[in-house]
Amino acid sequence: MSGRGLRRAVFLDRDGTLNVDPGYIADPAQIEIYLGVVEGLRLLSEKGFLLIVVTNQSGISRKFYTHEIVGAIHARIQSFLEARGVRIDAFYYCPHHPDEKCACRKPGTALFERASGEHSLDLASSAIIGNGASDIEAGRRLGLLTVYVPTPRFRLEREPVEKVGADLVAESFREACRKVAERLG
Ligand SMILES: [Zn+2]
Repeated sequence: MSGRGLRRAVFLDRDGTLNVDPGYIADPAQIEIYLGVVEGLRLLSEKGFLLIVVTNQSGISRKFYTHEIVGAIHARIQSFLEARGVRIDAFYYCPHHPDEKCACRKPGTALFERASGEHSLDLASSAIIGNGASDIEAGRRLGLLTVYVPTPRFRLEREPVEKVGADLVAESFREACRKVAERLG
């Protein structure tokens, strides 16, 4: 149901999608935003999409870093983007270990449902962009437009494009944003 006052969003994976993923980033200084991300986010923002990061951060449960560090990393991403004229509307993260079988670790949908309630979202006209099969699976469960941006590492070793089952595949984040804008207007 696309009611009045509902907003649309693009959900964004963090590591390997917005920024280089060296594995368990534990220091804000490690954040390196990919080329084209600022431009892509600006396009989506201009089209009226809220920009919402949803990220699995089991490094908290594994004691590799703390909630405070994750907060500092998100503040760094935000300040980097704000200096370039765009901003993330909200960050959500799952701190749990996979063994905890929580509802919020992607492909679980709890964080998306929370975001949907907190921001009055119309999920049927929203999208997700990510480099992991779990991003695409979460998006499918929620009825989002799913856009897969495989990194070479994922493409070669882990999740072949054809097995992920996304609505769209893009070669870069910027291209993914263009495709979302085209498809959802
Ligand atoms: Zn969780």
